[in-house]
Amino acid sequence: MGRWLHMNRIRGNSVWLPANHSQGSWMWRQILQSRTLAESFLKVVVKNGRSTCFWLENWSSMGILLQAAGARGCLEMGIQVEASVEEVLLTHRRRRHRRPILNQIEDEIVSARSLYTVEDEDVYWWKVKADNYKAQFSTRATYDQLRQHQDRVPWAAEIWFKHHSPKFSFIVWLAVQNRLSTGDRMVVWNANVSATCSFCHVNIETRNHLFFTCSYSKKVWESLARGILCNELTTDWDSLVQIISRVTEQGKEFYYPVSVPVDCLHYMERKECPSPWHSSVYSCKID
Ligand SMILES: [Zn+2]
Repeated sequence: MGRWLHMNRIRGNSVWLPANHSQGSWMWRQILQSRTLAESFLKVVVKNGRSTCFWLENWSSMGILLQAAGARGCLEMGIQVEASVEEVLLTHRRRRHRRPILNQIEDEIVSARSLYTVEDEDVYWWKVKADNYKAQFSTRATYDQLRQHQDRVPWAAEIWFKHHSPKFSFIVWLAVQNRLSTGDRMVVWNANVSATCSFCHVNIETRNHLFFTCSYSKKVWESLARGILCNELTTDWDSLVQIISRVTEQGKEFYYPVSVPVDCLHYMERKECPSPWHSSVYSCKID
């Protein structure tokens, strides 16, 4: 895909040059819009300067030169906005300028020229932490810098534990925050949707009802968890989260195999197999 984009979209120019945002696929337009964000994560170690845009990429100690000098800097320096670093190193003649920032750029050119090696390609470094760059891109490190950091919630270890199943954990993560598409929430989005529980066909389907207080779910839960939770067995969602969080803090993991899969089974059962036939099979297995 990268090669196709270079041939059909970039066409020998730099991806950092201004482009028409109305052309191309949605994905391509998103990439173009992300350039402002991406440029703060990139640093170029110039070798021959061939693939690096002189004005638009972060290769100098001054950062992105267009930002430092402004748009008129291109005219004052006599260097076109699309020029590569190599073109500048090989053709530019030093001059004195009124603006000190332009004389600083002249110094950068002299410095880069002393390191110029015609056979070596430029190296791109990605920021993994503040002032820490590496040659390899890390999705994790990049996302960690982009995301909003908040305090760890007490139930985090209950969901994101060692050997967890991502599908189950994601469902429970939504459930703990009451963000599943249960009937009570769906009916707010679309009044024509039935909000009645798919299991008992009596009550409104809320998170608490679906997982524990529904007569059907309660039967499943009690059959599976009674032997483990003993006298702490509860059908109250918040109480259960507190119990498991407390046990997790004590370093015990024996609740995990029961709580997380059962939570998810309830939801997936209701989402994927709401037929009475399936429910009867399920209840037979429990009995
Ligand atoms: Zn029900």
